[in-house]
Amino acid sequence: MNNNAPSPLELIRRHNLNLKKSLGQNLLVDASHLTRIADAADLKKTDTILEIGPGLGALTHHLAERAGRVVAVELDQRLIPILRAEFAGRPQVSFVHGDILKLSPAELILAQPSDRIGTNSNGESYKVVANLPYYITSAVLRHVLESLPPPTLAVFLVQQEVAQRMVAQPGKMSMLAVSVQFYACPRALHGIPAGAFLPRPKVDSRVVRLDLRPQPAVAGVEPGHFFSIVRAGFGQRRKQLRNSLVAGLSCTKEQADLWLTSSGIDPRRRAETLSLQEWGELTKTVYGSA
Ligand code: SAM
Repeated sequence: MNNNAPSPLELIRRHNLNLKKSLGQNLLVDASHLTRIADAADLKKTDTILEIGPGLGALTHHLAERAGRVVAVELDQRLIPILRAEFAGRPQVSFVHGDILKLSPAELILAQPSDRIGTNSNGESYKVVANLPYYITSAVLRHVLESLPPPTLAVFLVQQEVAQRMVAQPGKMSMLAVSVQFYACPRALHGIPAGAFLPRPKVDSRVVRLDLRPQPAVAGVEPGHFFSIVRAGFGQRRKQLRNSLVAGLSCTKEQADLWLTSSGIDPRRRAETLSLQEWGELTKTVYGSA
């Protein structure tokens, strides 16, 4: 870590900035937590990192110190010249102004010379690291998990409650848990108290590491089919599955019961109790194997 780097607070004062709540600008200002986020990504000098939302670059300094290359995407245009000036001495760090949801993660990484599809110039694949704005957490997760080629690993700082939902097991599953676990093995790591941020958010946060699976957790299903069934199941999550499927798939109760029993699932169960494999069986019953 560059010890001469100005703190976010110094940069805010120097540039007379007001942080934007509308962009989820709660900056992590506690250096020990920044180190632990970088630790969670197992960074090597051969790694290329896509950082989402660098803010004033506090986490970026830690990433740049350990990785080979960092591409950081920031939506707030005001911060781009500040970031470029702060990192002027580090040619391996570049900043892109834009909305991550409108950009392809893989293309951002590959937009550098000498890169091949899916890998960087060293033949390594990329990793994603982000202290995410809370209001776009689910959308960013989906965007990153479904990107082609996907990263090998992603480390996200998310709200405590979202971290718990991501790692939930059958009995407490949600659309978010199924989506994350279909593409990755999630691990909830250390917690970060609200007091480590500026300004202080209302809730505590947790670091989550996602190791992307080489293949989705459920074999033999087309992801579009799989997620249309899961979405239908969770459409009315307090109801029995047979009723959710009637509403979500526009079928009769008899048809829903037949699909469920043929998949070995009691039609009276609720969506949160199903495992990924059971959603997979149901998908194959409804759509056939991919
Ligand atoms: N990484 C910094 C840190 O850890 O202190 C800042 C994190 S702050 C929670 C989130 C950052 O994401 C803000 O700088 C915000 O402007 C940026 N941001 C918000 N929406 C974005 C989007 N759609 N695409 C890229 N950046 C975004």
